[in-house]
Amino acid sequence: MYGSRLWLTLRELVFLLLIPGILGWGEEGHYATCKIAEGYLNEEALAVVKQLLPASAKGDLASVCSWPDDIRKQYRWSSALHFADTPDFKCNYEYCRDCHDTAGNKDRCVTGAIYNYTKQLSGYQDPIVKSKYNLTEALLFLSHFFGDVHQPLHMGYLGDLGGNLIPIHWYDKNTNLHRVWDDMIIDSALKSFYDSDLRKMIQDIQRKIENGWSSDASTWTICENNRIVCPDLYASESIISACKFAYTNATSGSTLGDEYFLSRLPVVEKKLAKGGVRLAATLNRIFSYKAKLAVAEA
Ligand SMILES: [Zn+2]
Repeated sequence: MYGSRLWLTLRELVFLLLIPGILGWGEEGHYATCKIAEGYLNEEALAVVKQLLPASAKGDLASVCSWPDDIRKQYRWSSALHFADTPDFKCNYEYCRDCHDTAGNKDRCVTGAIYNYTKQLSGYQDPIVKSKYNLTEALLFLSHFFGDVHQPLHMGYLGDLGGNLIPIHWYDKNTNLHRVWDDMIIDSALKSFYDSDLRKMIQDIQRKIENGWSSDASTWTICENNRIVCPDLYASESIISACKFAYTNATSGSTLGDEYFLSRLPVVEKKLAKGGVRLAATLNRIFSYKAKLAVAEA
């Protein structure tokens, strides 16, 4: 299936036509994920993050979390790294089966990219690593891809390009299902509940992390076998959410309104929360891992 020239042409065409819709949470979603993460960085990680950030960020990670979407034209190779679709109607994710680009090159997907940039950043104290990789870019890619891997339709079906090929009426607007999840649910929430103020929405999510979701939230950062990062778990959760919430009652040509919006908004909010909390936990592990090891060995 992946080798079909027709398939490649279609996918390439959709990339050209639908960008930025295919490339992840919209700007608000990425900003929210990274802003939430900032609140959970420990001192050590925050210091390294600030060192690595470009001057244009003025010390604020959230302000540059959409950068990988902005440079997609210059970095064409990076387009495949924003998602990892599954075969049609498969509600599970498998790294070996699903992590590849349209040409079938292995590891070129969002989970592969998260492993890769985590590895690069883990060598931040090693002069050879520092000269070989651009760790500023690695930080921005990693932070962005933590957002993407938590957007359920970035683990959608291959056949509809993660919902991009499913036309939808969102209230009175024509769009597609992927964009509903990237932007429309968040935009409608901002207008309906937060006076169009993203800061208010982020504060509300932060309150939920500390209160309503707190017992649940304490488990979000756990990775099996004490690994630094576990994107396969995040991707598995996302395809389950895609099947259960995104695709359900949203067939081609559907009109989605209050019922879909109000029942899916809590899913989106929790995904933004999880993305942020997990990004912070990962950066904390990356940037203090060696220090902790040194203490343990002393
Ligand atoms: Zn993206």
